[in-house]
Amino acid sequence: MPAPDAGGRSAAAGALTDVRHVPYWLEGPAPDDQAALAGPATADLAIVGAGYTGLWAALSAKTRDPGRDVVVLEARSAGWAASGRNGGFCSSSLTHGLRNGLGRFPGEMATLERLGRENLDAIEKTVADQGIDCSWERTGEITVATAPWQVAELRELPALARSVGGSLEWLGQDEVRDRVASPTYLGGVLDRDGVAMVDPARLARGLRDACLRAGVRMHENSPVVSLGQHGSAVALTTAYGELRARQVVLATNAFHPLLRRLRSYVVPVWDYALVTEPLSAPQRRSIGWSGRHGMADAGNLFHYYRLTDDDRVLWGGYDAVYHYGGRVDDRLDRNPETFLRLAEHFAETFPQLEGLRFTHAWGGVIDTCSRFSAFWGRAMGGRVAYSLGYTGLGVGASRFGAQVALDLLAGHDTELTRLQMVRHKPLPFPPEPVRWAGIELTRRAVARADAREGRRGPWLRTLDAIGLGFDS
Ligand SMILES: Cc1cc2nc3c(=O)[nH]c(=O)nc-3n(C[C@H](O)[C@H](O)[C@H](O)COP(=O)(O)OP(=O)(O)OC[C@H]3O[C@@H](n4cnc5c(N)ncnc54)[C@H](O)[C@@H]3O)c2cc1C
Repeated sequence: MPAPDAGGRSAAAGALTDVRHVPYWLEGPAPDDQAALAGPATADLAIVGAGYTGLWAALSAKTRDPGRDVVVLEARSAGWAASGRNGGFCSSSLTHGLRNGLGRFPGEMATLERLGRENLDAIEKTVADQGIDCSWERTGEITVATAPWQVAELRELPALARSVGGSLEWLGQDEVRDRVASPTYLGGVLDRDGVAMVDPARLARGLRDACLRAGVRMHENSPVVSLGQHGSAVALTTAYGELRARQVVLATNAFHPLLRRLRSYVVPVWDYALVTEPLSAPQRRSIGWSGRHGMADAGNLFHYYRLTDDDRVLWGGYDAVYHYGGRVDDRLDRNPETFLRLAEHFAETFPQLEGLRFTHAWGGVIDTCSRFSAFWGRAMGGRVAYSLGYTGLGVGASRFGAQVALDLLAGHDTELTRLQMVRHKPLPFPPEPVRWAGIELTRRAVARADAREGRRGPWLRTLDAIGLGFDS
């Protein structure tokens, strides 16, 4: 997007002056934490991390075998991290979008698309069966073009989707503006039912409750500091206890991985979001949006946005920030420069909402890997399995990731474990300082490509050639 003038910048800054730096979804009363692990304990299956991946793994393990003794160890409170603070787009895509999937797994994309739809249906069914009150709305999503080069790229998508059994619809400028009113839209692509909007924190807390009802034992405020082998068991050590388990699922996302070998595969990258005050009835009418679709634009650096239950707008994305050495620190949740940029872009997209103020601004960390979609593996003689690397599209894919991890632990030959996507890992990142320099160079090259009608320069073309380019 073009840089705004000084007036636009100060209006955007003014809209941010009252923000609370807390994720909108996590504000308000939280359930009491389950007691921390104290002393020695045993389990059939231990799960490290109580975000969506860990919670789905625990619930699914109990569903597969109700007699299994399942224990979850969580460093803080279930769902406090990415799972409780994301945009709430629960997508059927397992590959971070169609083009990224077609570029990396062309031979099995039709299967991955089908599995992704089945996965989204299964999430919807669990939400209904378990009575999870998470404002599930299967609205679909519209990806909009805000520059002519994006129109050309989006127009190709419906045919690409058809080639792998999917269905996307092209919307011309008037059709897309009829649905959501922004003067920046030049066209768009509608995915009618491949995406649901959820309240992410209520989904995480609902899954936590479902786990507890199923008999999963959970210990919060119990960071695992080491993982070791003890005879035929895996020993997980926390500050005040030790859990010995026959099998382990690691669901630690972007946090320091307990297996050294994973350090080169995942880098922590910050993603940021704002939420506005509730729209008044005239403001709401001025933007249309009666279908309440999830929205995203088609830039390489893209925004995602949606309505909340009480008709606020959540507006996030665009910047993706990596800190040297893979620093993970709560202080990085605040990024005024990015908040200001997001507020400016919001004002350009919806000028009719001038004067609307933001109430919440926050960030969270995502587990970026070089293929931008999850990967799996086993360690310690097959006793440990992990599912990581969702790269910012894990609300839906985390359930699939958990099923794969359980199949790997069971040693079963299943449709999931036979997938190329499951059998192969992404390319590792180089060590620092090359890692930081490479990520920074890529971030700048991507921003330049957006500013130059999508034309990718030599650096991005090289990454594309070696399979490290991003195209969602
Ligand atoms: C701002 C933002 C917006 C996003 N928007 C979307 C979106 O709209 N749609 C989408 O699909 N995805 C989105 N994502 C990504 C999505 O939220 C994640 O992919 C998903 O939540 C990953 O779930 P997870 O369980 O793997 O990880 P997390 O939710 O990060 O959970 C990992 C858990 O592991 C725990 N843990 C880590 N190490 C240890 C340890 N040693 N011992 C014990 N516990 C440990 C952590 O405390 C944490 O609770 C967004 C992410 C962010 C940050």
